[in-house]
Amino acid sequence: MFLCRNDTMKRKMKKIIIANYKMNPQTEREAVKLAHAEDREGVIIAPPFPFLIPVKKALKKAMLGAQDVSTVSPLAGGWGAYTGAVSASMLKKMGVQYVIVGHSERRGFFNETDVMIAKKIVIALEAKLKVILCVGENADVRAQGITPAKAFVAEQLQKDFSEIINNKSAFKNIIVAYEPIWAISTTLYRKDVTLEDAETMAEYIKEQYPVRVLYGGSVNARNASGLLAQKNIDGLLVGGMSLKLKEFKKIISNF
Ligand code: PEP
Repeated sequence: MFLCRNDTMKRKMKKIIIANYKMNPQTEREAVKLAHAEDREGVIIAPPFPFLIPVKKALKKAMLGAQDVSTVSPLAGGWGAYTGAVSASMLKKMGVQYVIVGHSERRGFFNETDVMIAKKIVIALEAKLKVILCVGENADVRAQGITPAKAFVAEQLQKDFSEIINNKSAFKNIIVAYEPIWAISTTLYRKDVTLEDAETMAEYIKEQYPVRVLYGGSVNARNASGLLAQKNIDGLLVGGMSLKLKEFKKIISNF
């Protein structure tokens, strides 16, 4: 672990907002239209793989993100008989700048383990992609209180960073998105995060690693300004509301 709060604070950077389209919209035309309308400095648009190139062409100010990357290392070839896989070097060559790794939906629906996530982080960094690592506890953990929630997140980070822990410069290219699963819009019986909860966890993460920290989980036009005003929250990861142009425009009007 690094005690590097000051390093992070010294790197005073603008806040960022990530639009994670997930497996939406249904057509390239809709994706391009949406991305074009959301094209703003400080925004990262992460469409599904098939829409990356057309969305890239539509962007002038926003950056391009991918939602996942294969565990097959470019250094170990990075191509070949891996059906369905998309490599880090392919993404890089397509003009992708950021890649989301470890989203709770990939951990949950696709059984991604921390070992795989640790590998993806190394592979993405080797390909000169910046990493957005998602972490966050589920409702059962949070029901036990903030201390077990912090311990859960700390363990995820420790495992996910296990391959780069001795490489301090790697952390310059990593952003952590704190996304408590219980607050994500599609979670059954979801709950709203409090500003205090989100800020406490962001501060806790920064106490351990020299990274920027975003908050994600049901961000909308009403809660965005409060979240962005928190000292340790460097931006937002927006899922559902990144598909609703009016809402997203209100969210990005806050920075
Ligand atoms: C997400 O799943 O990354 C997310 C932030 O989703 P939503 O904003 O819809 O809660």
